[in-house]
Amino acid sequence: MIKRSFVALTKPRLSYRAIEQTPPEPKIMPVPKHATLLLNGLYDPFGQKKSVLLKKGDPVKTGQKLSLYEDSDAYVVSSVTGTISAVSSFSGDFGKSYAAISIDVAENEEIDEQFSALVTEPTLETVKNCLAFIPGNLPSVIFSPDQSSTPIDTIVICGVDRDLLITANQHTVVKESKAIKRGVQILRQVTGIDNIIMASPEHLMQDAGLSGAEVRIVNPGYPSSLPHLIMRDALGQVVPAGKSCEDLGVVFMSAEAVASLGKSFNEGRIPFQKRFNVIKKDGSSTLVSARIGTPVSDIFAAFDIDVNEKDRIIFGGPMTGTSIYSENHPIQPDTDAVMIQDYKDLALVSDYPCINCGECIPVCPTRIQVNMLVRLLEVGNYQEAADEYDLYSCIECGLCSFVCVSRMPILQYIKLAKYELDRISTVEEANV
Ligand code: SF4
Ligand code: SF4
Repeated sequence: MIKRSFVALTKPRLSYRAIEQTPPEPKIMPVPKHATLLLNGLYDPFGQKKSVLLKKGDPVKTGQKLSLYEDSDAYVVSSVTGTISAVSSFSGDFGKSYAAISIDVAENEEIDEQFSALVTEPTLETVKNCLAFIPGNLPSVIFSPDQSSTPIDTIVICGVDRDLLITANQHTVVKESKAIKRGVQILRQVTGIDNIIMASPEHLMQDAGLSGAEVRIVNPGYPSSLPHLIMRDALGQVVPAGKSCEDLGVVFMSAEAVASLGKSFNEGRIPFQKRFNVIKKDGSSTLVSARIGTPVSDIFAAFDIDVNEKDRIIFGGPMTGTSIYSENHPIQPDTDAVMIQDYKDLALVSDYPCINCGECIPVCPTRIQVNMLVRLLEVGNYQEAADEYDLYSCIECGLCSFVCVSRMPILQYIKLAKYELDRISTVEEANV
C-alpha cells in the first residue's frame, strides 16, 4: 500500500489508467530457470499420517497436475517442465499456508497431454479438476459451490482493473475477445448460469460487447471497479455489511480468467502466461507476460531494476497491494501487478495518533466514521469496531490510508481486525 507521496497519484480524484485503443503487446519474459508453485494448504510432512506424493528429484511436465496427498482436492498445475528441487512450507498473509514446490526448469519442454483428451466436451468436472490454476484465477465457488449458501445465478466478468496503474484486464478485453467469447460460452454450458455481465470501462464498450455478455459501464474513478461498488452502481444491489457478493448469488471473475478458460478448450492446452503490470520506481507501468511461478527477481533483472535492501516490493496495485519480502516470491495466477518503491520515496507509516482531522471520512465510499473506527482498531478492540463502527462495511479500498495525515496504516488495521474476528469465530464454532 502506498502513501501520499507516491508518484503520479494526486488528490482529490484518482482515476484508473485507461488503455490505448491499440495497445502494444506485453513484454514477454523468457521461461525461468527456476519456478516455484504455491499450493494452497498446510505442508507438514512430519505431522501428517499420509505420505507426501511429491519429492525432490521427481520429473514434472508442463501441464501436469501436482497434489501433495493422494486424496487431496488441492492441486497446482505445473507451468514448466523440469525436476522438483524442493518442497517446503510457505506462510502468506494473515495466516495463509502454502506448500512451495520448487522446480529446476529443463531445456526441453514436454507437455502433459491429460487435459487435451478432455476438451471435446467441456464439463464442470474438467474445469474443477484441471483449470483451478489458470492465469486470472477462476473463483472456486464456480466449480465447488457451497451447498449451504445462496446459489450463484449471476457471473460478473471484470473487464476493468481493480487498482491504479494496472491494465491487465483491459488489455485482455481488447486483445483476447475471441477467447473471452468462448470462455463465456463454456461458462454458460458448464454452470447453467445465463446471466453473465461484463463490467467494462466506457472506452472499451465495443470490445466488451464482443464477449456475448451483457455490458455494464463502470465509472473511471477509483475505487468504482471494486466488486461491492460494481454491485451497487452497475447492478443496483447493495451488499449488506458482513455479507459478500456471493451471498447475494453473484460471483466476480477477471476477464483474463475467462479468456484463459476459452483458450484452454480452444487450444487443448492449459495456458500459463500471466499478464501483469510492472510498476517501476518512477511510477511508470509496463504490461508484462511471464510464466506463473517466475521469481520476481527475474522480472526486476529484465527491467534493470536495482533492488535496495530497504526498497518496498508490492504485489498488487498501489492502493490495495501487499508487501512481499523475498525476491524469490513467484508470480501467481492472480498477480496483477508487481510494484517497487524506492526506500527514499517511502512515506513510512507512523505511530502518531489520530489527530481527528476528518480527512478520511469524506473519501470513504461506504461512509464509515474512520476516525472513530481507527481508535478501536489501534487498541485491538475489534468486536466493538464491528458492532459500533461498521468494520464489516469496509470494502478495503485503501483511500483512508492514502489521505491520513498521521500516516496511520488504517487498511492494515482493518484487514488484521477482520482476520482476527474470523479466526476467533472459527475457533468458537469448532468448540461448540
Ligand atoms: S479502506 Fe478506508 S476508505 Fe476504504 S472503505 Fe475501508 S474504511 Fe472506507
Ligand atoms: S485522516 Fe488519519 S488523522 Fe485524520 S481523522 Fe482520519 S485517521 Fe485520524
